Amino acid sequence: MQVTPSHEGALPVKFKRWLPLAAGRATLPVVTTKVRNPSAAPGQLDLVRRFVNTLDVDTGTDELVSPAAAAAWLSEQGWPTRVGQAGLDKLLEAREALRDLMGARGLSRKADAEATLDAIARKHPLVVRVSSPDPLQPTSKAGVGAFLERILGLVAAARIDGTWDRMKTCANDRCRWPFYDHSRNRSRTWCTMDICGAEAKMRAYRRRRATSGARLTS
Ligand SMILES: [Zn+2]
Repeated sequence: MQVTPSHEGALPVKFKRWLPLAAGRATLPVVTTKVRNPSAAPGQLDLVRRFVNTLDVDTGTDELVSPAAAAAWLSEQGWPTRVGQAGLDKLLEAREALRDLMGARGLSRKADAEATLDAIARKHPLVVRVSSPDPLQPTSKAGVGAFLERILGLVAAARIDGTWDRMKTCANDRCRWPFYDHSRNRSRTWCTMDICGAEAKMRAYRRRRATSGARLTS
């Protein structure tokens, strides 16, 4: 099986490692499938997912590892700007607060993330321009500030229209890969069923076996 992700960054690094393994299974038919990125958020909201996606928690791969790397990534996203250490620190603070907000399964983590993002929003306000196709406009003209204001505007719009509830991170705490849940009943839990989903199933299976073994010997 050969799967061609629709664009880079669509899948966790570990999933990319899994693909050649799947391709090498002799029993699988050789087919080429062009897959839609199953994790992409609709429209401009995907910029938020790609931003959080710059760190692969599991492997430690970080596209914002230095000010120069952050400037290169922002340029790729259509935000060419210089980035200093202070700008990088702001980006990383916002990114991890967003990851916490997307993956919040405990109220304290969610409250902390919201407080951090509210503090960033106080320094980076938005203005409403009804005449613009993007009514929530950054107040900074350029730079990291304008990028953060854009991100906050997209989060605000998604909170208002309800799509934010579909922005999630993988339930595996070692993974926390961001994705948009397209499932009808909003039940997607894992970055991929083949990796984190399978790992969780295996852990549950071992737990059940251990519990039933304990019952048998007690
Ligand atoms: Zn995962």
